[in-house]
Amino acid sequence: MAKITLSNLAHRYAPGDNYALKPMNHVWDDGTAYALLGPSGCGKTTLLNIISGLLTPSDGSVLFNGDDVTKKDTASRNIAQVFQFPVVYDTMTVRDNLAFPLKNRKLDTDYIKRRVEEIADMTGLTDILDKKALSLTADVKQKISLGRGLVREDVNAILFDEPLTVIDPHMKWQLRTELKALHKKLGHTMIYVTHDQTEALTFADKVVVMLEGEVVQIGTPTELFEKPGHTFVGYFIGSPGMNILPVKIKGDKAYIANHEIALAQGYKDMTGKIEIGIRPEFITLSNNPSDLPITIKRIEDVGHYKIIRAAHKDIDINIIANEAFEFSEDLKYARFDKSRTNIYADDWLVEP
Ligand code: ATP
Repeated sequence: MAKITLSNLAHRYAPGDNYALKPMNHVWDDGTAYALLGPSGCGKTTLLNIISGLLTPSDGSVLFNGDDVTKKDTASRNIAQVFQFPVVYDTMTVRDNLAFPLKNRKLDTDYIKRRVEEIADMTGLTDILDKKALSLTADVKQKISLGRGLVREDVNAILFDEPLTVIDPHMKWQLRTELKALHKKLGHTMIYVTHDQTEALTFADKVVVMLEGEVVQIGTPTELFEKPGHTFVGYFIGSPGMNILPVKIKGDKAYIANHEIALAQGYKDMTGKIEIGIRPEFITLSNNPSDLPITIKRIEDVGHYKIIRAAHKDIDINIIANEAFEFSEDLKYARFDKSRTNIYADDWLVEP
């Protein structure tokens, strides 16, 4: 297993191009499960390919446990990879597919048998170990790919590139949860690329959120929910995402279109684009005229909660209420939980 250091790392696909990855310095801990999360084109695959050795960065270096591996090829980095689509040998049985990485390393036959059966058990492949892969569905084949990725105990890291794309939605949930449990059991450093927030938040100890070639925040799912370091994190994580509203700040007061809101702490004078961020979960409807006046546009019942689509003047505000919520005419105001508001200057979180 390895600690992975990205030192002054950046990448341009051609000299003079824009940076596909902007300069970054990070240390990723040994044994931690990371998810790289961000929209299409933000640089997730570029970063993963640099870590795996499929791509040599134009700037900076990658270190595994302090050793510079920047110029080393994939094979000598001692990593396992699981790709978007299954990579299995159709003419081989499931057992032989799982055993392949171990046989390649000429490991002991008894050990291989034991290890393959252990991994088959963990990934739910025991009953079909002696079937040929050819006849199996894409779902099951991808499970074999996952099993193959997990079978070696001595790898520095396991890298997953959107591995659940071909998996049936109902099985996705199950596999995601299983992968998390497997990580706990096996303790490998894992890096998992996805653009799906649910996948990232259920799998990872730490989520690396990327935007336009930049890592905007690395945090636990709770940190990303409670203290988004950038408005993009607030907006991208959550359903609906964080409300991000233009404000003026004076000390410990925020003014949303001239309406005063009390903040938990005071702020210095700031310049640039200033916004307040508050998650829909931390706003409640009230009948108190000192709260923010709103008009309710519609209420969506999404099962275990309700989303209230409201607005203050032309500023849209989403509020989440529990499923028992009953609307009444006097609920014309929105109350912000002041301990849950964050202030942003030019999209970056500002400390009080
Ligand atoms: P997706 O989720 O769609 O795979 P991503 O977050 O993985 O996106 P990358 O594929 O890493 O993003 O792409 C980052 C940027 O680099 C994009 O602007 C993309 O157009 C550019 N890019 C990717 N591969 C190449 C390449 N081989 N040559 C030139 N530019 C590239």
